[in-house]
Amino acid sequence: MAGGGDPRAGGAHLLLLLLAALPLAARGAAWTEEKNYHQPVILNSSSLQQVAEGTNISEMWQEDLRPLLIERYPGSPGSYAARQHIMQRIQRLQADWALEVDTFLSETPYGYQSFSNIISTLNPTAKRHLVLACHYDSKYFPQWSNRVFVGAIDAAVPCAMILELARALDKQLLSLKNVSDSKPDLSLQLIFFDGEEAFIHWSPRDSLYGSRHLASKMASTPHPPGARDTNQLHGMDLLVLLDLIGSPDPTFFNFFPGSARWFNRLQTIERDLHELGLLKDHSWERKYFQDYNQRSMIQDDHIPFLRKGVPVLHLIPTPFPEVWHTMEDSEENLDEATIDNLNKIIQIFVLEYLHL
Ligand SMILES: [Zn+2]
Repeated sequence: MAGGGDPRAGGAHLLLLLLAALPLAARGAAWTEEKNYHQPVILNSSSLQQVAEGTNISEMWQEDLRPLLIERYPGSPGSYAARQHIMQRIQRLQADWALEVDTFLSETPYGYQSFSNIISTLNPTAKRHLVLACHYDSKYFPQWSNRVFVGAIDAAVPCAMILELARALDKQLLSLKNVSDSKPDLSLQLIFFDGEEAFIHWSPRDSLYGSRHLASKMASTPHPPGARDTNQLHGMDLLVLLDLIGSPDPTFFNFFPGSARWFNRLQTIERDLHELGLLKDHSWERKYFQDYNQRSMIQDDHIPFLRKGVPVLHLIPTPFPEVWHTMEDSEENLDEATIDNLNKIIQIFVLEYLHL
């Protein structure tokens, strides 16, 4: 629809005229628009097969997941151990990850507490980054002190999935170092948030400690380094947030019209892998990525970024799994096939997005 009577067309012409009238220097931030037009490079069937064979659920389970299945609320000994574990798993890889720990104090219902986000970035000076994120803290449950809440789906599994992605795609990610004219100035960032959970009752002040802190810090950090008009949030192409993943038969909906085309890629990848017989115990009737959109009122680590204009893909099952915030959110109730299938889908999505 672009007839003469279409008011949108008039707006576009006006915009073009305005852009043409601006001096070149003022147009320096045009790169921030590139994410709106970014296209994936679609992998063929043999590449899909290679990725599906390259990811290893048993290795993820033993090496990435098990060490995270401990009590790890902010400031606890387990939180320190989880942080060390995540960083060690990334440091041993070949790709050139820059690791940063963002430690800060924040007021909580239990007084000032210390929190530490982990940010792992390939090519930190690249203008644009696709961002994968999850929270690594577990919810504090003082009333169940005789039993330990380990938050398997919430969110040890999402963290392990991201670590497994970095391992399985290590070679391809290593090649991101080789900048070429045919590649966009685009790389990958992983964020492990601390303090997603409320200590007592979820409220704007008691929740999302890590993501609130990091979103405002990134908003005031110039990017690329030395830039005057653009900050690190401009450099986030898309924030893909994983949460509550690991129970059988999850269904995901798209919540944000702005990222619908990326959600559609996940749907297509799921369909292609299904048709190639590369997904385990997967029936098309119970496909993960659903066709219709939903409005979301779900509060999660994406909110502080969404409010500041970052495009978001929120991968959280609706409805929430039954084990959510109960002692049943443990290793015994995880579904290995579902996690493995989602690993394949998300790894392919990342390769396509980054043109690898
Ligand atoms: Zn939770």
